[in-house]
Amino acid sequence: MEQKKLFIPGPVDVRPEVLEAMNTPMIGHRSQDASELQKRISEKLQKVFFTQNQILLSTSSGLGLMEAGMRSLTTKRVAVFSVGAFGNKWADIAKRNNIPYDLIEVDWGDPITPELVDEHLSSGKYDAFTIQHNETSTGVTNPLNKISAVKQKYPDVYWLVDAVSAAAGIKAEVDNWGIDFYLTSTQKALGLPPGFSIAAVSERAFKHAEEVEFRGRYFDILLIKKYIDKKPYQYVSTPSLPHMFALDKQLDYILNEEGLENRFARHKELRDLTHKWVMENGFEFFAKEGYRSATVTAVKNNRNISVLDLKKQMADRGYVMAPGYGKLKTDTFRIAHMADRTVKELVEYLDTLSQEIEKL
Ligand SMILES: *Cc1c(COP(=O)(O)O)cnc(C)c1O
Repeated sequence: MEQKKLFIPGPVDVRPEVLEAMNTPMIGHRSQDASELQKRISEKLQKVFFTQNQILLSTSSGLGLMEAGMRSLTTKRVAVFSVGAFGNKWADIAKRNNIPYDLIEVDWGDPITPELVDEHLSSGKYDAFTIQHNETSTGVTNPLNKISAVKQKYPDVYWLVDAVSAAAGIKAEVDNWGIDFYLTSTQKALGLPPGFSIAAVSERAFKHAEEVEFRGRYFDILLIKKYIDKKPYQYVSTPSLPHMFALDKQLDYILNEEGLENRFARHKELRDLTHKWVMENGFEFFAKEGYRSATVTAVKNNRNISVLDLKKQMADRGYVMAPGYGKLKTDTFRIAHMADRTVKELVEYLDTLSQEIEKL
């Protein structure tokens, strides 16, 4: 299999040291070593997410924890604020779990405004609401800091944030913003292989979950927490230990070698370089100005190029390119600039993209 560079918004290329850490010989999952590993990872993740909340690990992709959060935290009705395809997945989860919900969807490319959140939460109908920090299908980053100000007015409402394509690439202050359930997967801005996910859950969210009678088994956040409290720091079933070894390694790199603020700054630099390319090449942005993502840019296909031919040509040049997502497949294409991508790699990619567009 020929190795191609991944410019898709997950999975991402993983640093060789992290891949190597996946090969660490196995340990018993009930051992002291496993507990210490889980504790270490949790403490490092708290730093990355700016939180003291309990970290839950899950051997599942991010969607599993989305289901866990929604199932465990809705007793009344959930407001699903959506700006795209991933936002709509929360509504699908609610529907399939028989959880009462309302889908509040804005035009794709637009963000959720604090005013819209205020308007709906003020109805008193909801005890939970969901939002994406970063919508991967449209390249929109929602203004969570502003939404948090509105949310403070509703202390009985629980806030769930899907930060899958944002966490560790776009800063979120989980505690300052009052996020009750903040989740991410490993294969996006964190820069690890897929198959593992993480949530930071507030104390009051755990209390609220006690009011939910049927929370399921694998994704019951109280059962997951029980195993953390017990030893302390164990996982309910057998976790993906390779991911845990890799996380331990990668989090050291993020916190101590690159530095968290440098990592956020690099993502913005990659975004700015991508924006420059978009404008110089006669394209437009799909996302509204002021809300454009630092991890993935959705480029509007206003030049009406064949996105799928371009994808094939880029494959011949050794790259996996991302077309649009779902209904935007050929109306947009996306440029991922997340995880451990360097400026040099991005510049090379953008140059190649220009060359291949000329050949179309
Ligand atoms: C990729 C992605 C998901 C799905 O995550 P999985 O780990 O594949 O389950 C959910 N939300 C957003 C915003 C994503 O980018």
